[in-house]
Amino acid sequence: MVDDTSFILNHLGEDRQHGYDAVVPPIVQSGNFTYPTVAAMRSVVQLEMDRPLYTRGFNPTVAILRKKIAALEHAEDALVFSSGSAAIAAAVMSFVKAGDHIVCVHKPYSWTKKLLVELLARFGVEHTFVDGTDAENYRKSVKPNTTFFITESPNSLTFELQDLAAVAAIAREHNITTLCDNSFNSPLFQNPIDLGIDLVAHSATKYLNGHSDVVAGVVAGRADHIRQIMSKEFMTLGAAPSPHDAWLLMRGLRTLELRLHRSADSAAQVARFLEGHPKVARVHWPGLESHPQHQLARKQMKRMAGLMTIELDAPDEAGVERFCDNLKTFLIAVSWGGYESLQWPVCALKGPSGYYTDLPFTMVRLYVGLEDPETLIADLRQALDRI
Ligand SMILES: *Cc1c(COP(=O)(O)O)cnc(C)c1O
Repeated sequence: MVDDTSFILNHLGEDRQHGYDAVVPPIVQSGNFTYPTVAAMRSVVQLEMDRPLYTRGFNPTVAILRKKIAALEHAEDALVFSSGSAAIAAAVMSFVKAGDHIVCVHKPYSWTKKLLVELLARFGVEHTFVDGTDAENYRKSVKPNTTFFITESPNSLTFELQDLAAVAAIAREHNITTLCDNSFNSPLFQNPIDLGIDLVAHSATKYLNGHSDVVAGVVAGRADHIRQIMSKEFMTLGAAPSPHDAWLLMRGLRTLELRLHRSADSAAQVARFLEGHPKVARVHWPGLESHPQHQLARKQMKRMAGLMTIELDAPDEAGVERFCDNLKTFLIAVSWGGYESLQWPVCALKGPSGYYTDLPFTMVRLYVGLEDPETLIADLRQALDRI
């Protein structure tokens, strides 16, 4: 197993002699591949997930990315999907059948929740959401038909953690397969497989790509698990990435280390500033000593990434809006993990969808991007004065 991050990001799997010796691997923008003889074609048809035949199953540009993602997550193999949601859905669906039961951390990513509540429920798969801050809650929810645990540590809005080693140990006792959505940490700051988790998923849209110009997802795990997902859900649901997006993602990976450490350094400064400000009632960020699971965070995560949520000391929604509308460097947008700092006010997303109605209107999620942290703090200070 290769464990030199900069080598993985910059060289692993690039096999340059098969790409005209180009320094940057070419984008193999082809949907299908040709063979000189019938016999040659026959020899690859059985191997369509390992050899170029048709790009839904195998594409040389995507294949480089698979090797890099697997190595980064200390996994045997990985798959790349056209979105993070597709990656999570395919991985979960691959391990459950009608009559099975899934235990999932409460408040997971919104479309992970929909996968369980609205999609899998229609096919007879049950679920229970648990408070994951105590791993024993997973054990207490195990039923004879439980086959799958979903973790997301921390989640990307309120930042509760699960003790991944403890959850994985409970799962192993009951022969249950585990998945962790590791998007917040990227593979650089947390490796769930080292803690005993079976499958790791990421929205590659976020830190892995890092430039806000691609939507993609990945799943990494044991070779037999990945092969199973690939031969069933990946090939039938067909959420394959385009070679061009895979190439952009590879370009984004070149700077993953630089971007992640910059974002984490700046987030620490921003979080400390916000925690000390009278107009900020609470900062949810696992890097702060005040976070209720700070010790666990330090135990299982290498560093704390640049996403946090604040609760403003604001009298009404108008006060929250004055803060948000006056922030100049934090763009009002969903998503995160790119170069640009973002803000995501909960009060903009409450409403008819019924999502987030349990969250206080004073919450604003902030993503700390690559701008000068001094500039970001000055901007926050002037906007807080407008509340
Ligand atoms: C964005 C996100 C997803 C979904 O990924 P897409 O690439 O948008 O489909 C899943 N989990 C987390 C934690 C995310 O932030």
